[in-house]
Amino acid sequence: MTIIMTTVEKVINWGRANSLWPLTFGTSCCSIEMMQTTASDFDIARFGSEVYRNSPRQADLLICAGTITYKMAPVLRKIYDQMAEPKYVIAMGACTCSGGMFAPDSYSVVKGIDKIIPVDIFLPMCPPRPEALLDALIKLQNKVRAEKFADRKKRMKYHREYPMTYMEDIK
Ligand code: SF4
Repeated sequence: MTIIMTTVEKVINWGRANSLWPLTFGTSCCSIEMMQTTASDFDIARFGSEVYRNSPRQADLLICAGTITYKMAPVLRKIYDQMAEPKYVIAMGACTCSGGMFAPDSYSVVKGIDKIIPVDIFLPMCPPRPEALLDALIKLQNKVRAEKFADRKKRMKYHREYPMTYMEDIK
């Protein structure tokens, strides 16, 4: 007879980590690499994350792939706020993480989406390859597996009250 010893927390976290459903949110070139990750060569379905949703209410992972402008910033925040808890964010590409090549001079590009929403994993490069996105997803899965239920309320409050500071960059 086999006896399996574990906790409810571990089982639920295991289920969550292996069924992260991403929101379809590609704004420029990086999103082509994100789409490629779902194709047969890379097959994100192996990690349970092939179910891209078009509604934020059905998604718990926001892979933000591409540049975000000041005009789009409040929309990104609204979409994030509508996502189901517990929710996670991967910032994919240099533009998303820091404004990338637009950072020094552009009047319109936000210099990092962490000025709008909390980010769990930063994935720089221009553009990141599908392998890199899969690596970011594995890192996020490890983070989800290690989560404590006791911290849930604290984290939800942190998400709700996360300050939007992107306007401070505009001179
Ligand atoms: S990081 Fe590069 S590939 Fe990605 S959106 Fe910016 S310019 Fe395009």
